[in-house]
Amino acid sequence: MKIKEAVFVVSNTDVEKCPAPDRPEYAFIGRSNVGKSSLINALTKQNKLAKTSSTPGKTQLINHFLINEEWYLCDLPGYGYAQVSKTEREKFMRMVKKYIASRENLMNTFVLVDIRHEPLKNDLDFMQWMGEKGLPFCIVFTKADKLGQGKASKLIALYKRKLKETWEEFPPMIVTSSETREGCKEILQYIDEINDY
Ligand code: GDP
Repeated sequence: MKIKEAVFVVSNTDVEKCPAPDRPEYAFIGRSNVGKSSLINALTKQNKLAKTSSTPGKTQLINHFLINEEWYLCDLPGYGYAQVSKTEREKFMRMVKKYIASRENLMNTFVLVDIRHEPLKNDLDFMQWMGEKGLPFCIVFTKADKLGQGKASKLIALYKRKLKETWEEFPPMIVTSSETREGCKEILQYIDEINDY
């Protein structure tokens, strides 16, 4: 798939106010600073579609973009955002989980993790929750350009070991970099395959 058009549709905190579920939808989520906005911008080849962390007052909103008038890309609030209180973080997480569990046109969630970091508890907890609910997701490793191939493979193996404690099968994993656009094609192909199914 080539992204010919990516248009911002709406931002909100209310799941009920998301666009009508009339097209397939793909969500992107991860800890704050994981590189989610950069990846969305790399995928859509737009510099400023998703707001990057350097933007003051970075939003904790559910953002919808319409891609090629065919599918929705949903940019979910980053979890573990250090600048907000624990109560606020829990509130965002409830909103996100409500969205993921109830959004009927949601085909897949891309869970982003920084390839340089060992598996973190809140990432694993989130994946655990997705798995228990039977919700489809992929693990997207970000910032691959910051790590050599050898170290990256070790980190991925570590994830697999951790996940193996709970699951027999691993979710699909895609290694990406917004700098080099590594993995962008794979993500778009993955979306294409589901859309064409
Ligand atoms: P978000 O909070 O998850 O939306 O993260 P951002 O996209 O704002 O990225 C956080 C920081 O990581 C920024 O300084 C980005 O320039 C940097 N970054 C994001 N993706 C990459 C990447 O693939 N490679 C490198 N080298 N830096 C990245």
